Amino acid sequence: MTIDIKNPSFLLDGEEVPFTEGQTVMEAALTAGSYIPHLCFHPELQAHGSCRLCIVESDNRLHASCTLQANSRLKVSSQTQAINKMRKHIVQMLFVEGNHICPSCEFSGNCQLQAMAYELDMEEGHFHFRYPKREQDASHNDIFLDRDRCINCELCVRASRENDAKNVFSLGGRGTETHLCANSASGKLGDTSLDVSDKAANICPVGALLINDQSYVTPKEDRVYYQTSISLRGNRRPKEIE
Ligand code: SF4
Repeated sequence: MTIDIKNPSFLLDGEEVPFTEGQTVMEAALTAGSYIPHLCFHPELQAHGSCRLCIVESDNRLHASCTLQANSRLKVSSQTQAINKMRKHIVQMLFVEGNHICPSCEFSGNCQLQAMAYELDMEEGHFHFRYPKREQDASHNDIFLDRDRCINCELCVRASRENDAKNVFSLGGRGTETHLCANSASGKLGDTSLDVSDKAANICPVGALLINDQSYVTPKEDRVYYQTSISLRGNRRPKEIE
């Protein structure tokens, strides 16, 4: 592999991916139209590296591609059987840790977790379903919070802080008890400054934060991931392009 200093690139699954100074492997790959699975990454927010779906292998080590700085010496593998098996196990764990009942979920077809399960050929949960008891919050006039579906990706936490200049959400608890908190004295969403137009209210990859009266506006057959797989949509997210 020759290194072109003026037009640097790295290898992703044997293909050259150009990058600019400061880009991560994930950013460069998505810019080049190469999809690396992810749930907690968003190009406008600080990378988090927590969902681990974007793992890639380089130099016999696993890395989160959303935090791995691109450089010209990198040879990165993403679409291997072993890595996709790990990704599938992560998605299976997310399914069994929450209450994700796709057929009765109004976000079905727009949900990135469901789309990722299809992408990775997940046919069942594999692990024991935990069916946790989680609190729902209908205190806000415009937004419903269903913690049953929250995957703790912190996209809403980061969007509120970095984009909306608020601090509406945080994660509380530990381990399997980790849960999304509304930052108000009462702990209720309705007592926060969250507005329906905030990025935080519109960024959830699953159906945990829903805009009231919008859930069934689009017929199921017209929803984005019933039309196109998540890998073909790349980083175009349902709520941000329609
Ligand atoms: S409510 Fe949605 S965006 Fe917020 S942490 Fe949960 S899954 Fe992520």
